[in-house]
Amino acid sequence: MTESTTLTTELLVLGGGPGGYAAAFYAADLGKQVVIVELEEQLGGVCLHRGCIPSKALLHATHLLHQAEHANEFGIQFQKPTIDLDKLRSWKQNTIQTLAKGIDSLASARKVTVVKGRGYLEDSRTLRVESTEGQRFIQFQQAILAVGSQATLPSAFDLGNPRVMTSRAALLLEDIPDRLLVIGGGYIGMELGSVYARLGSQVSLVENQDRLLLGVDPDLTTPVVRLAKEAFNEINLGAKVEKLATRGSEIEAQIQLASNQSVTQSFDRVLVSVGRSPRTQNIGLENTKIGLDPKGFIQVDERLVTAESHIAAIGDCIGGAMLAHKAHYEARDAVEALVQSEEPTLTPHIPAVVFTDPEIAWCGLTETAAKEAGRKHQVAKFPWAASGRAISVGQQHGFTKLIFDPDTQQLLGAGIVGNGAGELIGEAILALEMGATAYDLAKTVHPHPTLTETLMEAADVFYGHATHFRSS
Ligand code: FAD
Repeated sequence: MTESTTLTTELLVLGGGPGGYAAAFYAADLGKQVVIVELEEQLGGVCLHRGCIPSKALLHATHLLHQAEHANEFGIQFQKPTIDLDKLRSWKQNTIQTLAKGIDSLASARKVTVVKGRGYLEDSRTLRVESTEGQRFIQFQQAILAVGSQATLPSAFDLGNPRVMTSRAALLLEDIPDRLLVIGGGYIGMELGSVYARLGSQVSLVENQDRLLLGVDPDLTTPVVRLAKEAFNEINLGAKVEKLATRGSEIEAQIQLASNQSVTQSFDRVLVSVGRSPRTQNIGLENTKIGLDPKGFIQVDERLVTAESHIAAIGDCIGGAMLAHKAHYEARDAVEALVQSEEPTLTPHIPAVVFTDPEIAWCGLTETAAKEAGRKHQVAKFPWAASGRAISVGQQHGFTKLIFDPDTQQLLGAGIVGNGAGELIGEAILALEMGATAYDLAKTVHPHPTLTETLMEAADVFYGHATHFRSS
């Protein structure tokens, strides 16, 4: 370290991901002087650099590959596609850079000061920032912690072998391994497993639980599991990878199968996608009154404020749905709580999308949760096999499911499976937030032929008179 300088600010934001930069920008728009501290070279966080955006860019490219391979169903014959990995990587990187530059310029337009380096709370009013440039201190009146999360790498898998990857390394796409083991059948394992499978890897997936995509209504996962079974070499449910070991250029995995039989298999790469943990260690929380829960998430009240009344926390580091749009939403609430002393808005419904083929999206009450809670509900399902649009784009295996309160007819939740579900859920979440009823959805004129009609027809199913579907 060469020198120490001190900076003062009204609002400090620690972490420049979708939670942190959204908070910084909003506070600046409200007239606050803001400093944002980020240890990576650019703002954008996991979502932009190592999560949502690169994964969706690769999923889009490999989806195209798959469509080209299956275009003969539509009478179009392409030659077998070839993959230029360098070009694919640079296209993905250009996508990230386009967005990163946009965020940088929005920060400077708002006069948000960006400090690069690792932040550490010396006390509840002072942040020390260390970087290759030296050490500096930031004194702040208020702060928002948005330090995010990182992939969990259990010690049994941490061999120090770069071919044992978390999602961060998997997204770099260094090569296309002949044999890839994916440990964990959550959304990250399923999304990245399909990227590699479509690029040509023999993908074996091992999942501890007895089904994939736990937490999603089972009927919504059925079309995804069916396609994954075709795309992946092997899916072992109720199985456990007990140990990994480096054997020359291979990685040997000891797997306990559901039958209790133990097998040893060799792979060229392994993707460990068993969950994410908050990055709340080594940021100096012990020098404040801020508490952590047993899993290491920062404890906040309903206003997102920590045990220090001038410090809030948002995004992945406080737990709940670890999704970028949740972090973004909380950014606004936290700024309002600190800067404007406003009460929190009503707890929003957080939609979720799994960008597999086909996509799954849901929001509000799930059918599983309704049953578990013994809550009175009525499910109205419209199969996409009855949608002109779905059939014309080869998505007849999808469906749209709406969950209503049978007494008030109010929408309680929605689940959609089929490509385009991630976009379609936007209508359902708005309907949910607006307190819409089945009548509102059924009486809203939807354009034809579009997949949005499936929401209207599902609402018609509730009344038993969907034009294109009669349930038996
Ligand atoms: P982060 O994005 O993790 O940002 C935290 C920032 O804080 C980081 O930039 C980090 O460098 C910085 N930081 C941490 N500690 C310090 C420190 N001491 N000093 C300075 N800076 C620090 N979500 C979706 O909604 N949709 C998706 O499709 C989706 N896909 C995903 C795919 C993958 C492979 C992964 C891994 C995640 C995906 N997510 C997705 C989740 C999403 O990325 C996160 O929920 C989101 O990034 C959380 O935002 P955040 O601001 O809380 O934290």
